[in-house]
Amino acid sequence: METVHLKINNIPVEVPKGYTILQAAKEANIEIPTLCYLKDINCIGACRVCMVEAKNRRGLLAACVYPAEEGLEVFTNTPAVIKSRKTTLELLLSTHHKKCLSCVRNNNCELQRLAAEYGVDEDRFTSEEPIYEIDDASPYIVRDNNKCIQCMRCVAACKNVQSVSVIGPIKRGFAVHVGSAFDKSLNDSPCVGCGQCVVSCPVGALTEKSQEDKVWEAIADPEKQVVFYTAPSIKATLGESFGLPVGTNVDGKMTAAIRRLGEGVKIFNMDFTADLTILEEANELIERVQNGGTLPMFTSCCPGWVKFVEHYYPEFIPHLSTCKSPQAMFGAVLKSYYCEKNNIDPKNLFVVSVIPCTAKKFEASRPDLRSNEAYDDVDVALTTRELARMIKRAGISFNELEEEDYDAPFNKATGGGAIFGATGGVLEAALRTAARTLDGEFKKVDFEEVRGPEAVRTVTYEVAGIKINVAVTSGLGNARQLLEKIKKGEADYQMVEIMACPGGCINGGGQPLLSDSIRNYVDYKALRSKALYDYDAAAEFRCSDESPVIKMVYDEYFEAPGKEKAHKYLHTTYVPRDKYYK
Ligand code: SF4
Ligand code: SF4
Ligand code: SF4
Repeated sequence: METVHLKINNIPVEVPKGYTILQAAKEANIEIPTLCYLKDINCIGACRVCMVEAKNRRGLLAACVYPAEEGLEVFTNTPAVIKSRKTTLELLLSTHHKKCLSCVRNNNCELQRLAAEYGVDEDRFTSEEPIYEIDDASPYIVRDNNKCIQCMRCVAACKNVQSVSVIGPIKRGFAVHVGSAFDKSLNDSPCVGCGQCVVSCPVGALTEKSQEDKVWEAIADPEKQVVFYTAPSIKATLGESFGLPVGTNVDGKMTAAIRRLGEGVKIFNMDFTADLTILEEANELIERVQNGGTLPMFTSCCPGWVKFVEHYYPEFIPHLSTCKSPQAMFGAVLKSYYCEKNNIDPKNLFVVSVIPCTAKKFEASRPDLRSNEAYDDVDVALTTRELARMIKRAGISFNELEEEDYDAPFNKATGGGAIFGATGGVLEAALRTAARTLDGEFKKVDFEEVRGPEAVRTVTYEVAGIKINVAVTSGLGNARQLLEKIKKGEADYQMVEIMACPGGCINGGGQPLLSDSIRNYVDYKALRSKALYDYDAAAEFRCSDESPVIKMVYDEYFEAPGKEKAHKYLHTTYVPRDKYYK
């Protein structure tokens, strides 16, 4: 590997050729501040916060785009550099609605942090502040351009990572702002709801549509019985909101905290319906393979991916598994089986799912997922961030809590259900159960070949004389490339797992927001995934079909995978959507 040698603040550094000054500085343990740069997503040198000085170079250099050159001597902290950064921040603040006290990003905002570190005068430059209407028409994302600093990270996440491109800069000069085509609401665009724009935003301009108040109201209502369930990935991420290291598993503390949100609140384990999805999905795959059904079969548990197919590749709708997602299955199980068994009027059962993304808020509002026309199966879908805010507001000392278990009867699940939160996990769990169904003697449990960060993983397995070609990918840009290959007949698979968010739900658009220092320099996706794989490795049951809760619900209600009642409550349909509208 060719390297270059340079000095950063007089410290000699050797880095691979092609590194930028920003990357080289990190090698010398010097962090240069950034606002628009985001690793692997946005590198446009636009915000000018990362300016540095270099010997024998005129003016200041943008460290995020300027290459680390042989012999270069860089200074990251000179009076000229500090003055430039301070002025840039003061100019940004001149048009920024400084409502820090009530902003959901208070104490977690990159602009606020830098303003404090550089001691800026927030009113040094005054100007006529443009007033933008807040776009809160969609059921999942709110855009407040009055707080936008036009870093273009959201635009890059939507275009470069997701290949969706429904947002971009509109107008020119002082009037420029970010929005959807023709300045329409996001709700009137073919946005898939993934929320990757939200987790990329350094300030409070993009947030999930909060439903916390609805949950507080239900908790205070004596008529309502409130039940929560948490998606597989939440246990691996919620702790970050309470200052715990990335990748800390907080399963037991999370259940204890939710139970303390109000009297009578129950907390169930969504890994159970991840297992249930596997039973139905493995059965569907075997049916399709043995009876000439539409192949490859695509997983359908990610609503961002499902909406992407509906908008952009409706011809692939028959390839989507008809299984509802674990979130939607749990809502259906609760408002049918659970209510019948416990003599509860489904209208009085208030169902709250805690989920990793904004797409699942959209999913909860889909009329085609209702198992009864009179009510939604899922009343509210809260992101991990919203749950953390509720726990904080309730005054619960999260880190001090003793670990507690989930509530019966949906307290037991398998490692197969838990790994749903990481890319490859759904396919691995399906392979575990499908292999055991086809060959009772099949012993392999760890399908490590489908795990990992590569853009697309493809593997061929042979079970009971049947060859199964599988593929896994995450991130919709990668998904689009895979779909184009399948369309051209260049790829032949039986089953394909696709998750909209790069790395899967552990990196969902509703997960805790990480500072630039973590996002740009730490492999947080690997750490969060590891928490789930460690949980799986230590689980009492590894294969979804071994779960005692699964056996209970089939014996008492759904009979067997794919049977009539299972089909009625656990499967769904999809709609082709216009490419230009919702
Ligand atoms: S939610 Fe996803 S698809 Fe929609 S604007 Fe954001 S990044 Fe783009
Ligand atoms: S909404 Fe956020 S991410 Fe998008 S341009 Fe504005 S500040 Fe940047
Ligand atoms: S990958 Fe997970 S977090 Fe991302 S949109 Fe899909 S379900 Fe949501």
